[in-house]
Amino acid sequence: MAKKIQAVRGMHDILPDETPLWQFLEDTVRRVFQSYAYRELRTPILEMTELFKRSIGEVTDIVEKEMYTFEDRNGDYLTLRPEGTAGCVRACMESGLLHNQIQRLWYQGPMFRHERPQKGRYRQFQQIGLEAYGMSEPDIDLEVILITARLWRELGIPGLELQINTLGTPDERKTYRARLVGYFQEHREQLDEDSRRRMNSNPLRILDSKNPDMAELIAAAPSLMDDLGEESRAHFSAITEGLDAAGIKYVLNPCLVRGLDYYSRTVFEWVTDLLGAQGTVCAGGRYDGLVEQLGGRATPAVGFAMGVERLVAVLEALDQVHPAAVPHAYLVVAGGNAAQAGLMLAESLRTALPGLRLQLNCGGGSFKSQFKRADRSGAKVALILGDDELKNQCVGVKWLRQNREQISVNHDELAGFLKEISGE
Ligand code: ATP
Ligand code: MG
Repeated sequence: MAKKIQAVRGMHDILPDETPLWQFLEDTVRRVFQSYAYRELRTPILEMTELFKRSIGEVTDIVEKEMYTFEDRNGDYLTLRPEGTAGCVRACMESGLLHNQIQRLWYQGPMFRHERPQKGRYRQFQQIGLEAYGMSEPDIDLEVILITARLWRELGIPGLELQINTLGTPDERKTYRARLVGYFQEHREQLDEDSRRRMNSNPLRILDSKNPDMAELIAAAPSLMDDLGEESRAHFSAITEGLDAAGIKYVLNPCLVRGLDYYSRTVFEWVTDLLGAQGTVCAGGRYDGLVEQLGGRATPAVGFAMGVERLVAVLEALDQVHPAAVPHAYLVVAGGNAAQAGLMLAESLRTALPGLRLQLNCGGGSFKSQFKRADRSGAKVALILGDDELKNQCVGVKWLRQNREQISVNHDELAGFLKEISGE
Protein backbone atom coordinates (compact mmCIF):
# COMPACT_ATOMS: atom_id res chain seq x y z
CA MET A 1 0.00 0.00 0.00
CA ALA A 2 1.19 3.49 -0.78
CA LYS A 3 2.38 5.59 2.15
CA LYS A 4 -0.30 7.91 3.49
CA ILE A 5 0.35 11.60 3.30
CA GLN A 6 -0.52 13.65 6.36
CA ALA A 7 -1.44 17.27 6.85
CA VAL A 8 1.40 19.75 7.35
CA ARG A 9 2.45 20.07 11.00
CA GLY A 10 0.54 22.82 12.78
CA MET A 11 -2.16 22.94 10.10
CA HIS A 12 -5.53 21.39 10.84
CA ASP A 13 -8.64 20.19 9.14
CA ILE A 14 -11.89 21.50 10.52
CA LEU A 15 -14.13 18.47 10.30
CA PRO A 16 -17.87 18.51 9.51
CA ASP A 17 -18.76 17.95 13.17
CA GLU A 18 -16.82 21.07 14.11
CA THR A 19 -17.94 23.42 11.34
CA PRO A 20 -21.35 24.28 12.87
CA LEU A 21 -19.58 26.04 15.76
CA TRP A 22 -17.35 27.91 13.29
CA GLN A 23 -20.35 28.89 11.19
CA PHE A 24 -22.22 30.13 14.25
CA LEU A 25 -19.21 32.29 15.12
CA GLU A 26 -18.75 33.56 11.55
CA ASP A 27 -22.47 34.34 11.12
CA THR A 28 -22.53 36.22 14.41
CA VAL A 29 -19.42 38.22 13.54
CA ARG A 30 -20.84 39.19 10.15
CA ARG A 31 -24.12 40.31 11.69
CA VAL A 32 -22.47 42.34 14.45
CA PHE A 33 -19.97 44.02 12.10
CA GLN A 34 -22.77 44.88 9.70
CA SER A 35 -24.76 46.42 12.52
CA TYR A 36 -21.93 48.99 12.84
CA ALA A 37 -21.80 49.47 9.03
CA TYR A 38 -18.40 47.83 8.49
CA ARG A 39 -17.83 46.34 5.04
CA GLU A 40 -15.89 43.22 4.15
CA LEU A 41 -12.60 43.38 2.27
CA ARG A 42 -10.94 40.29 0.74
CA THR A 43 -7.27 40.32 -0.15
CA PRO A 44 -4.89 37.65 -1.53
CA ILE A 45 -3.22 35.18 0.81
CA LEU A 46 0.13 35.83 -0.87
CA GLU A 47 1.77 39.25 -0.76
CA MET A 48 5.19 40.57 -1.69
CA THR A 49 7.58 39.76 1.19
CA GLU A 50 8.63 43.42 1.25
CA LEU A 51 5.13 44.42 2.43
CA PHE A 52 5.51 42.55 5.72
CA LYS A 53 9.11 43.57 6.22
CA ARG A 54 8.11 47.21 5.90
CA SER A 55 4.89 47.06 7.90
CA ILE A 56 5.50 44.57 10.69
CA GLY A 57 9.19 45.47 10.85
CA GLU A 58 12.42 43.49 10.54
CA VAL A 59 13.08 43.12 14.26
CA THR A 60 9.90 41.27 15.19
CA ASP A 61 9.33 37.58 15.89
CA ILE A 62 7.06 37.36 12.88
CA VAL A 63 9.52 38.71 10.31
CA GLU A 64 12.65 37.31 11.95
CA LYS A 65 11.52 33.72 12.24
CA GLU A 66 7.88 33.01 11.55
CA MET A 67 7.15 33.85 7.91
CA TYR A 68 6.58 31.34 5.13
CA THR A 69 8.58 32.99 2.37
CA PHE A 70 9.62 31.61 -0.99
CA GLU A 71 10.92 32.70 -4.34
CA ASP A 72 8.45 32.10 -7.15
CA ARG A 73 9.20 31.20 -10.76
CA ASN A 74 9.85 34.83 -11.66
CA GLY A 75 12.29 35.34 -8.83
CA ASP A 76 9.86 37.43 -6.78
CA TYR A 77 9.91 36.96 -3.02
CA LEU A 78 6.42 36.14 -1.80
CA THR A 79 5.09 35.44 1.69
CA LEU A 80 2.00 33.66 2.95
CA ARG A 81 0.40 36.44 4.95
CA PRO A 82 1.11 36.16 8.71
CA GLU A 83 -1.58 38.74 9.55
CA GLY A 84 -4.22 40.83 7.79
CA THR A 85 -3.53 44.49 8.49
CA ALA A 86 -0.65 44.93 6.04
CA GLY A 87 -2.62 43.51 3.11
CA CYS A 88 -5.64 45.57 4.09
CA VAL A 89 -3.64 48.82 4.05
CA ARG A 90 -1.93 47.83 0.80
CA ALA A 91 -5.26 47.08 -0.90
CA CYS A 92 -6.84 50.32 0.31
CA MET A 93 -3.88 52.42 -0.85
CA GLU A 94 -3.79 50.67 -4.21
CA SER A 95 -7.49 51.31 -4.82
CA GLY A 96 -7.56 54.85 -3.51
CA LEU A 97 -9.87 53.95 -0.64
CA LEU A 98 -7.95 56.05 1.86
CA HIS A 99 -7.85 59.28 -0.09
CA ASN A 100 -9.68 61.80 2.13
CA GLN A 101 -12.08 59.06 3.06
CA ILE A 102 -13.35 57.30 6.07
CA GLN A 103 -13.36 53.53 5.81
CA ARG A 104 -14.80 50.92 8.13
CA LEU A 105 -13.64 47.50 6.98
CA TRP A 106 -13.29 43.92 8.15
CA TYR A 107 -11.67 40.77 6.81
CA GLN A 108 -11.38 37.13 7.60
CA GLY A 109 -9.13 34.32 6.48
CA PRO A 110 -6.21 32.01 7.12
CA MET A 111 -2.87 33.37 8.35
CA PHE A 112 0.47 31.54 8.41
CA ARG A 113 3.27 31.65 10.96
CA HIS A 114 6.03 29.11 11.45
CA GLU A 115 5.69 28.86 15.24
CA ARG A 116 6.03 25.91 17.59
CA PRO A 117 2.60 24.28 17.41
CA GLN A 118 0.78 23.85 20.71
CA LYS A 119 -2.73 24.29 22.06
CA GLY A 120 -4.06 27.59 20.67
CA ARG A 121 -0.97 28.14 18.52
CA TYR A 122 -0.87 26.81 14.98
CA ARG A 123 1.03 27.36 11.76
CA GLN A 124 -2.12 27.98 9.79
CA PHE A 125 -4.78 29.73 11.82
CA GLN A 126 -7.83 31.82 11.15
CA GLN A 127 -8.16 35.49 11.99
CA ILE A 128 -11.08 37.82 11.77
CA GLY A 129 -10.05 41.44 11.87
CA LEU A 130 -11.53 44.90 11.62
CA GLU A 131 -9.94 48.21 10.64
CA ALA A 132 -11.18 51.82 10.70
CA TYR A 133 -9.32 54.47 8.68
CA GLY A 134 -9.38 58.23 8.58
CA MET A 135 -10.55 58.94 12.14
CA SER A 136 -8.18 60.25 14.78
CA GLU A 137 -10.53 61.00 17.68
CA PRO A 138 -10.98 58.57 20.58
CA ASP A 139 -14.63 57.93 19.70
CA ILE A 140 -13.60 55.47 17.01
CA ASP A 141 -11.19 53.63 19.35
CA LEU A 142 -14.14 53.30 21.67
CA GLU A 143 -16.47 52.09 18.92
CA VAL A 144 -13.97 49.41 17.94
CA ILE A 145 -13.74 48.15 21.52
CA LEU A 146 -17.53 48.27 21.93
CA ILE A 147 -17.87 46.09 18.82
CA THR A 148 -15.74 43.40 20.44
CA ALA A 149 -17.69 43.63 23.69
CA ARG A 150 -20.96 43.23 21.81
CA LEU A 151 -19.54 40.28 19.93
CA TRP A 152 -18.78 38.39 23.16
CA ARG A 153 -22.33 39.07 24.36
CA GLU A 154 -23.86 37.82 21.10
CA LEU A 155 -21.61 34.76 21.09
CA GLY A 156 -22.51 33.98 24.68
CA ILE A 157 -18.94 34.28 25.99
CA PRO A 158 -18.81 35.73 29.49
CA GLY A 159 -15.72 36.36 31.58
CA LEU A 160 -13.24 37.74 29.06
CA GLU A 161 -11.00 40.39 30.55
CA LEU A 162 -10.36 43.63 28.67
CA GLN A 163 -6.84 44.93 29.20
CA ILE A 164 -5.93 48.35 27.87
CA ASN A 165 -2.94 50.61 27.74
CA THR A 166 -1.68 53.61 25.81
CA LEU A 167 1.64 53.79 23.98
CA GLY A 168 1.51 57.54 23.41
CA THR A 169 2.96 59.08 20.27
CA PRO A 170 6.29 58.04 18.70
CA ASP A 171 7.94 61.10 20.27
CA GLU A 172 6.61 60.34 23.72
CA ARG A 173 7.72 56.77 23.28
CA LYS A 174 11.22 57.90 22.40
CA THR A 175 11.57 59.69 25.73
CA TYR A 176 10.17 56.69 27.52
CA ARG A 177 12.36 54.28 25.63
CA ALA A 178 15.48 56.07 26.86
CA ARG A 179 14.26 55.89 30.47
CA LEU A 180 13.35 52.24 30.07
CA VAL A 181 16.70 51.27 28.57
CA GLY A 182 18.43 53.08 31.45
CA TYR A 183 16.39 51.10 33.96
CA PHE A 184 17.06 47.74 32.32
CA GLN A 185 20.74 48.55 31.95
CA GLU A 186 20.93 49.08 35.70
CA HIS A 187 19.48 45.59 36.17
CA ARG A 188 21.18 43.94 33.25
CA GLU A 189 22.12 40.85 35.23
CA GLN A 190 18.42 40.05 35.74
CA LEU A 191 17.57 40.08 32.03
CA ASP A 192 17.27 36.84 30.09
CA GLU A 193 18.99 36.36 26.77
CA ASP A 194 15.98 37.34 24.67
CA SER A 195 15.55 40.56 26.60
CA ARG A 196 19.21 41.50 26.32
CA ARG A 197 18.90 41.15 22.58
CA ARG A 198 15.82 43.35 22.63
CA MET A 199 17.54 46.09 24.63
CA ASN A 200 18.91 47.54 21.42
CA SER A 201 16.33 46.48 18.89
CA ASN A 202 13.01 46.67 20.68
CA PRO A 203 13.22 47.41 24.43
CA LEU A 204 9.46 47.93 24.90
CA ARG A 205 8.95 44.29 23.95
CA ILE A 206 10.83 43.28 27.12
CA LEU A 207 7.74 44.39 29.07
CA ASP A 208 5.82 41.73 27.15
CA SER A 209 8.15 38.90 28.29
CA LYS A 210 6.40 35.78 29.57
CA ASN A 211 9.46 34.73 31.61
CA PRO A 212 8.30 34.45 35.27
CA ASP A 213 11.86 35.14 36.51
CA MET A 214 11.59 38.65 35.11
CA ALA A 215 8.08 39.42 36.37
CA GLU A 216 9.29 41.42 39.38
CA LEU A 217 11.77 43.44 37.38
CA ILE A 218 9.10 44.29 34.81
CA ALA A 219 6.51 45.19 37.42
CA ALA A 220 8.90 47.79 38.86
CA ALA A 221 9.87 49.27 35.48
CA PRO A 222 9.14 52.95 34.78
CA SER A 223 5.72 53.70 33.31
CA LEU A 224 5.06 55.30 29.96
CA MET A 225 2.14 57.19 31.51
CA ASP A 226 4.66 59.62 33.02
CA ASP A 227 5.92 60.60 29.56
CA LEU A 228 2.52 61.25 28.03
CA GLY A 229 1.69 64.74 26.83
CA GLU A 230 -1.63 66.49 27.32
CA GLU A 231 -3.24 65.21 24.11
CA SER A 232 -2.33 61.59 24.62
CA ARG A 233 -3.62 61.76 28.16
CA ALA A 234 -6.91 63.26 27.02
CA HIS A 235 -7.25 60.63 24.29
CA PHE A 236 -6.76 57.83 26.78
CA SER A 237 -9.13 59.34 29.36
CA ALA A 238 -11.85 59.70 26.74
CA ILE A 239 -11.63 55.98 26.12
CA THR A 240 -11.63 54.89 29.76
CA GLU A 241 -14.50 57.28 30.50
CA GLY A 242 -16.42 55.91 27.51
CA LEU A 243 -15.89 52.37 28.73
CA ASP A 244 -17.10 53.35 32.20
CA ALA A 245 -20.20 54.97 30.68
CA ALA A 246 -20.89 51.85 28.61
CA GLY A 247 -20.47 49.65 31.68
CA ILE A 248 -17.53 47.72 30.25
CA LYS A 249 -14.97 46.64 32.81
CA TYR A 250 -11.29 46.89 31.99
CA VAL A 251 -7.90 46.49 33.55
CA LEU A 252 -5.06 48.93 32.92
CA ASN A 253 -2.05 46.87 31.93
CA PRO A 254 1.07 49.03 31.55
CA CYS A 255 2.96 45.99 30.22
CA LEU A 256 0.65 45.67 27.24
CA VAL A 257 2.87 46.80 24.38
CA ARG A 258 3.36 46.43 20.70
CA GLY A 259 6.98 46.81 19.84
CA LEU A 260 6.24 48.43 16.50
CA ASP A 261 6.85 52.07 15.73
CA TYR A 262 3.65 52.57 13.82
CA TYR A 263 1.49 51.94 16.88
CA SER A 264 0.20 54.96 18.71
CA ARG A 265 -1.86 55.50 21.80
CA THR A 266 -4.52 52.87 22.35
CA VAL A 267 -3.69 49.18 22.65
CA PHE A 268 -6.04 46.53 24.02
CA GLU A 269 -6.41 42.79 24.38
CA TRP A 270 -9.22 40.48 25.45
CA VAL A 271 -7.93 37.62 27.56
CA THR A 272 -9.47 34.39 28.80
CA ASP A 273 -8.27 32.10 31.57
CA LEU A 274 -9.95 29.07 29.98
CA LEU A 275 -7.18 28.23 27.52
CA GLY A 276 -3.98 28.16 29.55
CA ALA A 277 -0.97 30.01 28.18
CA GLN A 278 -2.55 31.06 24.87
CA GLY A 279 -5.13 33.30 26.54
CA THR A 280 -5.37 36.29 24.20
CA VAL A 281 -8.36 35.90 21.89
CA CYS A 282 -8.36 39.40 20.44
CA ALA A 283 -5.69 42.08 20.16
CA GLY A 284 -5.89 45.55 18.71
CA GLY A 285 -5.08 49.20 18.86
CA ARG A 286 -4.35 52.40 17.04
CA TYR A 287 -1.68 52.46 14.33
CA ASP A 288 -1.63 55.98 12.95
CA GLY A 289 1.88 55.58 11.49
CA LEU A 290 1.43 52.56 9.25
CA VAL A 291 -0.10 54.01 6.10
CA GLU A 292 2.66 56.61 5.85
CA GLN A 293 5.29 53.95 6.58
CA LEU A 294 3.97 52.06 3.55
CA GLY A 295 4.29 55.10 1.30
CA GLY A 296 0.80 56.57 1.65
CA ARG A 297 -0.39 59.84 3.07
CA ALA A 298 -0.55 59.91 6.89
CA THR A 299 -3.88 58.30 7.81
CA PRO A 300 -5.18 57.59 11.30
CA ALA A 301 -6.13 53.96 11.79
CA VAL A 302 -7.43 51.66 14.49
CA GLY A 303 -8.33 47.98 14.44
CA PHE A 304 -8.04 44.53 15.96
CA ALA A 305 -7.61 40.87 15.04
CA MET A 306 -9.19 37.86 16.71
CA GLY A 307 -7.84 34.32 16.77
CA VAL A 308 -10.76 32.19 15.64
CA GLU A 309 -9.35 28.82 16.82
CA ARG A 310 -8.99 30.27 20.31
CA LEU A 311 -12.54 31.65 20.28
CA VAL A 312 -13.90 28.32 19.07
CA ALA A 313 -11.97 26.63 21.89
CA VAL A 314 -13.61 29.04 24.36
CA LEU A 315 -17.07 28.20 22.98
CA GLU A 316 -16.24 24.51 23.35
CA ALA A 317 -14.96 25.01 26.89
CA LEU A 318 -18.27 26.72 27.68
CA ASP A 319 -20.06 23.62 26.34
CA GLN A 320 -21.77 25.56 23.57
CA VAL A 321 -23.27 23.04 21.21
CA HIS A 322 -24.36 23.81 17.67
CA PRO A 323 -25.62 20.60 16.11
CA ALA A 324 -24.94 20.00 12.45
CA ALA A 325 -27.88 20.65 10.13
CA VAL A 326 -29.23 17.17 9.39
CA PRO A 327 -31.49 16.55 6.37
CA HIS A 328 -35.21 16.92 6.89
CA ALA A 329 -35.93 14.03 4.55
CA TYR A 330 -34.14 11.14 2.85
CA LEU A 331 -35.46 9.94 -0.48
CA VAL A 332 -35.39 6.17 -0.91
CA VAL A 333 -35.62 5.08 -4.53
CA ALA A 334 -36.11 1.47 -5.55
CA GLY A 335 -37.33 -0.17 -8.70
CA GLY A 336 -36.69 0.02 -12.43
CA ASN A 337 -37.57 3.63 -13.20
CA ALA A 338 -37.59 5.11 -9.73
CA ALA A 339 -33.96 6.27 -9.62
CA GLN A 340 -34.33 8.64 -12.55
CA ALA A 341 -37.77 9.79 -11.40
CA GLY A 342 -36.45 10.25 -7.86
CA LEU A 343 -33.72 12.58 -9.07
CA MET A 344 -36.31 14.73 -10.88
CA LEU A 345 -38.66 14.71 -7.91
CA ALA A 346 -35.84 15.76 -5.55
CA GLU A 347 -34.87 18.62 -7.87
CA SER A 348 -38.45 19.90 -8.12
CA LEU A 349 -38.89 19.74 -4.32
CA ARG A 350 -35.70 21.76 -3.76
CA THR A 351 -36.97 24.35 -6.24
CA ALA A 352 -40.34 24.54 -4.51
CA LEU A 353 -38.86 24.72 -0.98
CA PRO A 354 -35.53 26.60 -0.87
CA GLY A 355 -35.00 25.87 2.84
CA LEU A 356 -35.52 22.12 2.48
CA ARG A 357 -32.62 19.80 3.27
CA LEU A 358 -33.26 16.69 1.21
CA GLN A 359 -30.80 13.84 0.78
CA LEU A 360 -31.27 11.55 -2.18
CA ASN A 361 -30.19 7.92 -2.08
CA CYS A 362 -27.49 7.45 -4.70
CA GLY A 363 -25.85 4.21 -5.73
CA GLY A 364 -28.90 1.94 -5.48
CA GLY A 365 -29.22 -0.70 -2.76
CA SER A 366 -32.01 -2.77 -1.33
CA PHE A 367 -34.85 -1.14 0.62
CA LYS A 368 -33.24 -2.42 3.78
CA SER A 369 -29.84 -0.89 3.14
CA GLN A 370 -31.40 2.37 1.95
CA PHE A 371 -33.45 2.64 5.15
CA LYS A 372 -30.29 2.07 7.13
CA ARG A 373 -28.65 5.00 5.33
CA ALA A 374 -31.80 7.09 5.83
CA ASP A 375 -31.66 6.41 9.55
CA ARG A 376 -27.95 7.28 9.76
CA SER A 377 -28.53 10.57 7.93
CA GLY A 378 -30.50 11.86 10.91
CA ALA A 379 -33.49 12.75 8.72
CA LYS A 380 -36.96 13.01 10.23
CA VAL A 381 -38.64 11.02 7.49
CA ALA A 382 -37.78 8.66 4.67
CA LEU A 383 -39.68 9.34 1.46
CA ILE A 384 -40.19 6.14 -0.49
CA LEU A 385 -40.41 6.05 -4.25
CA GLY A 386 -40.87 2.60 -5.77
CA ASP A 387 -42.56 1.41 -8.92
CA ASP A 388 -46.01 1.36 -7.28
CA GLU A 389 -45.66 4.92 -5.92
CA LEU A 390 -44.45 6.03 -9.32
CA LYS A 391 -47.51 4.58 -10.98
CA ASN A 392 -49.81 6.26 -8.41
CA GLN A 393 -47.97 9.63 -8.43
CA CYS A 394 -47.33 9.50 -4.69
CA VAL A 395 -44.57 8.72 -2.18
CA GLY A 396 -44.63 6.67 0.99
CA VAL A 397 -43.59 8.52 4.17
CA LYS A 398 -41.91 6.51 6.90
CA TRP A 399 -41.30 8.33 10.20
CA LEU A 400 -37.75 7.66 11.32
CA ARG A 401 -37.77 9.34 14.73
CA GLN A 402 -41.37 8.85 15.82
CA ASN A 403 -43.55 5.86 16.38
CA ARG A 404 -46.14 6.71 13.73
CA GLU A 405 -47.81 4.80 11.00
CA GLN A 406 -46.46 5.05 7.48
CA ILE A 407 -48.58 7.27 5.24
CA SER A 408 -48.82 8.04 1.56
CA VAL A 409 -48.67 11.60 0.15
CA ASN A 410 -49.56 12.59 -3.41
CA HIS A 411 -46.88 14.35 -5.46
CA ASP A 412 -48.88 17.58 -5.66
CA GLU A 413 -49.24 17.69 -1.87
CA LEU A 414 -45.67 16.70 -1.12
CA ALA A 415 -44.14 20.20 -1.06
CA GLY A 416 -46.83 21.34 1.39
CA PHE A 417 -46.25 18.32 3.60
CA LEU A 418 -42.45 18.82 3.65
CA LYS A 419 -42.89 22.51 4.37
CA GLU A 420 -44.78 21.59 7.48
CA ILE A 421 -42.36 18.98 8.79
CA SER A 422 -39.27 21.05 8.01
CA GLY A 423 -40.71 24.18 9.57
CA GLU A 424 -39.50 26.21 6.58
P1 ATP B 1 0.84 35.75 20.80
O1 ATP B 1 1.39 36.66 21.83
O2 ATP B 1 -0.16 34.75 21.35
O3 ATP B 1 1.88 35.12 19.91
P2 ATP B 1 0.50 37.75 18.79
O4 ATP B 1 0.78 39.02 19.48
O5 ATP B 1 1.53 37.13 17.94
O6 ATP B 1 -0.05 36.66 19.85
P3 ATP B 1 -1.37 39.01 16.99
O7 ATP B 1 -0.39 39.13 15.90
O8 ATP B 1 -1.76 40.22 17.75
O9 ATP B 1 -0.88 37.87 17.99
O10 ATP B 1 -2.68 38.26 16.42
C1 ATP B 1 -4.00 38.50 16.94
C2 ATP B 1 -4.59 37.23 17.50
O11 ATP B 1 -4.45 36.14 16.60
C3 ATP B 1 -3.94 36.73 18.77
O12 ATP B 1 -4.43 37.41 19.88
C4 ATP B 1 -4.38 35.28 18.78
O13 ATP B 1 -5.71 35.15 19.26
C5 ATP B 1 -4.35 34.92 17.33
N1 ATP B 1 -3.09 34.23 16.97
C6 ATP B 1 -1.88 34.77 16.76
N2 ATP B 1 -0.97 33.83 16.44
C7 ATP B 1 -1.64 32.64 16.43
C8 ATP B 1 -1.28 31.28 16.14
N3 ATP B 1 -0.03 30.95 15.79
N4 ATP B 1 -2.23 30.33 16.24
C9 ATP B 1 -3.51 30.64 16.57
N5 ATP B 1 -3.91 31.90 16.85
C10 ATP B 1 -3.00 32.90 16.77
MG1 MG C 1 2.99 35.60 18.18
